[in-house]
Parts: sequence; structure tokens; C-alpha cells
Amino acid sequence: MRDIRLSTVLRAVFPRHRRSALQPAAPAPSAPPAPRRWIACHTPRCGHLETPHSPAGPGMWECPGCGRVQAEA
Ligand SMILES: [Zn+2]
Repeated sequence: MRDIRLSTVLRAVFPRHRRSALQPAAPAPSAPPAPRRWIACHTPRCGHLETPHSPAGPGMWECPGCGRVQAEA
């Protein structure tokens, strides 16, 4: 009259095995961060402060504070 499934027994005996099988794989290495360039932004919003601009095309850089795109100084 025993109606115990093998999977039930294995789960009870080897709980660690099951848990480790459910763990997500290690995250893939992320892409290198985009190059930043510290450029002074002369808009009233940024107040002439240097901010780490992100590339916005060849020779152009975008301000993270106000979104202004300016040529490389
Ligand atoms: Zn700005």
C-alpha cells in the first residue's frame, strides 16, 4: 500500500540538490560603461558646472543635466 513517488523521496532526502538546481545562473558580464567626458555646461540649469557628458555622435556630447548636445571643446 505504499504509494510514495520517487521524486517525493528524493526531494525529502536531497533538498539542497533541488534548491541549487533552482538558483539562477551567474549574471553575464555587463558591457563596459560608455565613455564619459567631463565638460562644462553653460546653460542656466547647469550653471557652468562640469558634468560627465555622454557621447551623442561623432565629436558631440550630451549633458546629463539638461540634455544639451554640444561639440567637443
Ligand atoms: Zn547641462
